[in-house]
Amino acid sequence: MKTVKCPSCGASFDENLPRCPYCGRAHYAGAEKEYREKLNVIKEDLEDLSDTPQEELTKEIRHTGKLVRNVVIATVCILLLAGGIGLWARGCEREDHASEYRWKQEHYAVLDSLYEAEKYREMSDLVGEYLLADDPVYDWKHYELACCILFEDPSYQEAVRLSDEDRAILTRYYETMSEEERAVLNNRYGTEGSK
Ligand SMILES: [Zn+2]
Repeated sequence: MKTVKCPSCGASFDENLPRCPYCGRAHYAGAEKEYREKLNVIKEDLEDLSDTPQEELTKEIRHTGKLVRNVVIATVCILLLAGGIGLWARGCEREDHASEYRWKQEHYAVLDSLYEAEKYREMSDLVGEYLLADDPVYDWKHYELACCILFEDPSYQEAVRLSDEDRAILTRYYETMSEEERAVLNNRYGTEGSK
């Protein structure tokens, strides 16, 4: 057994030891040797574990490698596709919002001016046209009033929330409506008998 002299405490100890057993100072040569020995044991264990011939093992590794690679490629493709669809959908949504906003800006101004001019019949007819065309008229602030005039349905009028101002307008509207106008409305929207 070869010994080394500890540079710290001066004691002699086995050169294969990773540390001086007296003062604990690290002995690198010994530590490295111990590490190599452990590594060799692991290597031997691994070799013992695998009885598979080298060629077959290589084939298997290659096969597994291909499989892993395909799975990774497929996953990346799916993620890209999902991301793409998400972006596209968001783009469409944004475009929808933008065009809806533009529509409202333009058409709500027209409705506002009819409301201010007290042309409630024209205003409501226009709302009816927009409704039929599936245009986003439902956010307009006097939409409910227009619908009340449009549908002439008392149960509808009770169900919706009108501002006090709009309710007063509706009452006045009915008071000033001639029988003829009433008949025209009823014919147009088929609400006869609902009153
Ligand atoms: Zn020592």
